[in-house]
Amino acid sequence: MPIKNIVIVGGGTAGWMAASALSRLKAGNDVNITLVESEQIGTVGVGEATIPPFIEFNNLLEIDEAEMMAACQATFKLGIQFSNWGKQGDSYIHPFGGYGYGMGGISFHQVWHRFQAGGDKRPIQVFNLETMAAYFGKFARTKDYQRDDLPPINYAYHLDATRYAQFLRAYAEQRGVVRREGRVADVTLNNESGFVDSVTMDDGTVISGDLFVDCSGFRGLLIEQALGTGYEDWSHYLPCNRAVALPCNRDDGSPPSPFTKATAHSAGWQWQVPLQHRNGNGHVYCSEFMDDDEAHDILVGNLAGKPTAEPNFLRFVTGRRKKFWNKNVVALGLAAGFMEPLESTSIHLINTGINKLIAVASLDGITQTQEDAFNRFTGKEYERIRDFLILHYNSTTRDDSEFWNYCRTMSVPDSLTEKVELFKANGQIFREDDELFTESSWTAVMMGQGIAMNGHSPVADTLEMPKLRTEFDEIEKSIKFVVHHMPSHQEYLAKYCPAP
Ligand code: FAD
Repeated sequence: MPIKNIVIVGGGTAGWMAASALSRLKAGNDVNITLVESEQIGTVGVGEATIPPFIEFNNLLEIDEAEMMAACQATFKLGIQFSNWGKQGDSYIHPFGGYGYGMGGISFHQVWHRFQAGGDKRPIQVFNLETMAAYFGKFARTKDYQRDDLPPINYAYHLDATRYAQFLRAYAEQRGVVRREGRVADVTLNNESGFVDSVTMDDGTVISGDLFVDCSGFRGLLIEQALGTGYEDWSHYLPCNRAVALPCNRDDGSPPSPFTKATAHSAGWQWQVPLQHRNGNGHVYCSEFMDDDEAHDILVGNLAGKPTAEPNFLRFVTGRRKKFWNKNVVALGLAAGFMEPLESTSIHLINTGINKLIAVASLDGITQTQEDAFNRFTGKEYERIRDFLILHYNSTTRDDSEFWNYCRTMSVPDSLTEKVELFKANGQIFREDDELFTESSWTAVMMGQGIAMNGHSPVADTLEMPKLRTEFDEIEKSIKFVVHHMPSHQEYLAKYCPAP
């Protein structure tokens, strides 16, 4: 059956991202796109931190960066600062972008380790542009400081996700996506194929479709409630299952930092996401070890300003649907699965889900091969991210609460154990299945959590020393120079994309 009618159920970040991207299919094709959402049900809307591939998503849609940032009160993000994770009092930044650059065909951290073994005391952080800019509260895009001896600066955004969805709604509607307001009351399946034929609104209107994109949030209206796809629960690896979100002002006049803060507490962790006019905050915690009141009190006790809204309590089960694509339904966003926002991966997974859908799907019709490929690729993507998140919890020496005792001693996937063992031996990191997190991401988090390299690649010892030292020193100097001449993050925002 050719695809002539695409129906998106849900108008949160996932729904409007899908609608915007799919609207491009309308050019030259006879296809209708309808998005159904219910203002009464509302959206989750707390997703505020993104990662660098998100920039490409906006570029593909030819969205003007400064316009989007102003509309969403966005700030720049250079990485995430993790505090109290490896042990209490510890702090490190997981930056976007690598340390130094490859030398002699091997990774920079291998060369760095050789120097360390020879008595050099410089921490690896001084060789990363994003970390140093973050520490000094500086920001500039690459085009402002173009230098051949430095890689481009890698960044993403902190943004108000609700405003972003509104921004995309205008984009998609201008390009012919039809929005239908109201609650889906019923879903009709085809008796023979089991495919979804239509959804019925609570006013009785029937909306038929050939392909349905389920963006209905945690409830998974089509993928779960109608098709009973099933859910793989990962709570034994990532036991946090609650969050309380509470934005606050920055009345003290402090500037927005160009990085997210993730501070561990006794049964979870707290995020701080700086927007232009306020901070987004939240406490992710595990209900087995902490009740809602205590979680709320810890959050309020650690806010940088006064709350600007009522606390929003959320419940979730970490995991993924057994199939992301089932029959003629493709689930995106919270309907597809959920992993806590520790590395800001949810909006990213919406983005890659859309990319895969556009790449794999054909308007000529749906095939089993498309469904299988989509599910296999997405499953691997989820698993690799899951392993990276588990690393933050499991590689801790904290023993000050039952929660940390559980995390420190829980069994973890073999794939993660292998990664850690290889890194410990001589700093090797093997990435699999085109995984999201880069070698320097794994290096940053492993080292930040206190996992030491016991040796380095033997190739590092074969590199010629005087030349190596000059290059090594030059990287640090260039980064210092560039960061020194960058404007402050706040100055940059005020000039480039001030929110109205
Ligand atoms: P929702 O926002 O829940 O939207 C669901 C939509 O479906 C709504 O429009 C609703 O009206 C509609 N709907 C539901 N049922 C019906 C019905 N019967 N009829 C009609 N319409 C219906 N992601 C990040 O990338 N970075 C972060 O920092 C981040 N932080 C997060 C913090 C927390 C605590 C949580 C829970 C999530 C966070 N996320 C983050 C995830 C991010 O918020 C979501 O991935 C994103 O908002 C997408 O949500 P969604 O569109 O899938 O679902």
